[in-house]
Amino acid sequence: MGRTIDVRDPRTGRADHTLTCADAAEVGAAAASARAAQPEWLALGVPGRVAALRRFRDALAERGEAMVAALVRDTGRLAVSRLEVDSVLASLDRWCDRAPGLLPEPGTVPTSMPGVGLRQDPLPYAVTGVISPWNFPLLLAMIDTVPALLAGSAVLLKPSEITPRFAAVLRDCVTAAALDGVLGVIDGDGATGAAVVGTVDLVCFTGSVRTGRAVGAAAAARFIPAFLELGGKDPAIVCADADLDRAARAILYGGAVNTGHSCMSIERVYVAEPAFEEFVGLLVGRARKIGLAYPEVTDGELGPVISAAQVAIIEEQLADAVARGATVHCGGEIRVLGGGSYLEPTVLTGVDHTMKIMREETFGPVLPVMPFSGTDEAVALANDSEFGLSAAVFAATTEAALAVGERLEAGGISINDASLTGFVQDGEKNAFKSSGLGGSRMGAASIRRFQRQRSFLIRSPEDAAPWWW
Ligand code: NAD
Repeated sequence: MGRTIDVRDPRTGRADHTLTCADAAEVGAAAASARAAQPEWLALGVPGRVAALRRFRDALAERGEAMVAALVRDTGRLAVSRLEVDSVLASLDRWCDRAPGLLPEPGTVPTSMPGVGLRQDPLPYAVTGVISPWNFPLLLAMIDTVPALLAGSAVLLKPSEITPRFAAVLRDCVTAAALDGVLGVIDGDGATGAAVVGTVDLVCFTGSVRTGRAVGAAAAARFIPAFLELGGKDPAIVCADADLDRAARAILYGGAVNTGHSCMSIERVYVAEPAFEEFVGLLVGRARKIGLAYPEVTDGELGPVISAAQVAIIEEQLADAVARGATVHCGGEIRVLGGGSYLEPTVLTGVDHTMKIMREETFGPVLPVMPFSGTDEAVALANDSEFGLSAAVFAATTEAALAVGERLEAGGISINDASLTGFVQDGEKNAFKSSGLGGSRMGAASIRRFQRQRSFLIRSPEDAAPWWW
C-alpha cells in the first residue's frame, strides 16, 4: 500500500477523500510504458494524433457532467468548473484544427551552399512531464498536455494533491479514447512530482515560484528543458481619462474571478490621482454586489478559498496591511461558513509597497488601490515587483493605453480590459522575472517547445565539395 494523504473538501473543510501517492518506482514504470508507447504514437503522424485527440475531446464532452461534479468537489465552485470543461473542449478543437498547419511534413530545400540541400526534421521529446496546480485543476492539467501530445510526445501528468478527484474522470476519458500509455495520469504530491521530473525528457511545470525553482534546478541537473509558469502580482493602471466604470468592472472581474485564484489575477491597482476617489467608489459599489457561493454552490459568484494553506496566507497579508495603516472598504475578513473559508471581494486603500499585500502573491479576491501622480510613477510602481506575468492598462484611447503598456515588464498586457490572457491564447508571451522561464505556452510557438530540430545536410552523391583534400 502506497503513502496516502487526506484530501479536504473546500466547502466543508472536512477530509473526505484519500489519495494514494505514486512512489518513484511507480512513476518510473509509468514513464517506461509512456516511452514504449511513444514511437507508435509518433508514427500515427499528425492526422492520426489529431483523430485520437478528437476522440479524447468527445470522451470528455460525454463525461462533461461527471467532470464538473468532480471539479466541484475539488474546488467548491460550480460556474468556473463548467467554464474549465468548456475551455478545455474549445482548446482541444482549436489545437486539432491548427496542428496540421503548425506541424508540416518536412521537405528538402536548397541552402546557401550550392549543391547542399537541407531537410529539417522536428523530433519530439519522447516523454513530457506535466505538473499542475490546484487553482484550475483541469484547465492547467491540459494546457501543455494537448500540444505535447499533438507534437508526438507521450505525457505523464501529475495533478495537484489538493484537487485530485477530477483525475479519475480524466483517466476514464483517456481509456475511452484509447490513449492509455500515451497519456499517463499519476496521483501524488510533491515527492511524486519530483519523481516525474527525475524521469521525463522535458517538464512543463505550473505552480509557485518556490516549487518552480526546485523543479528548474532538478531539470538543469538532468539537462532536460523546463518550462516554468509561476506566480504573479499583476498590476492594473487606470489613467485619469479612462472610462472609470468600465475599468472598475473589468478589474473587479480580473481580480476576483475564481476567488482570485488565478495567476493572471489583478492584485494591485494604480489609479491617477484625479480619478482615484471616483474609481474607488465605483469599485467598492460593484464589489459589494458580488455574493458568495453559499449555502448552495449555485448561489453567488465566489466559491470558497480552495487551499487551506492559502487561507492563512491571505489572512496574514490582510492583517499586515491593516496593521500598517490600510483601510478596508469592503470584505476584508475570511468567514468560515459550513466549514469552508470564504472571502468577499476586498478593496483596500491607504496601501504602499512596504506591505506584503503589494509585494507578495495573495491569490485571493483582494484589490489594493493606490493613487499615482503621473505616468512615470505609475510605470515605476507597476514594475516594482519580483513578478512579471501580466498587467492591464486603461486609458481613453487604445494608443494612450498601449504607450503605457509598452513600458511594463510583463509578458501579457490587456489593453482596456483585464486578465484577457486567460481567455485569448492566440498570442505568444513569455513570463518575465520570477514569473517563469522558457518558451511561450500560448500561440504557435507553444507546440514547437515539444520538438527538437534535427537537420539533415544533404549533398548529392554526384557532387564533390570544393574544399575536400
Ligand atoms: P505548488 O508549487 O505548491 O504546486 C504545484 C505542483 O507542483 C503540485 O502538483 C505539487 O504537487 C507539485 N510539486 C510540489 N513540490 C514539487 C517538487 N519538488 N517537484 C515537482 N513537483 C512538485 O503550487 P500551487 O499552490 O499548487 O499553485 C499555485 C501557484 O501556481 C500560484 O503561485 C500561481 O500563481 C501559480 N500558477 C501559475 C500559472 C501560470 O500560468 N503562470 C497558472 C496557475 C497557477
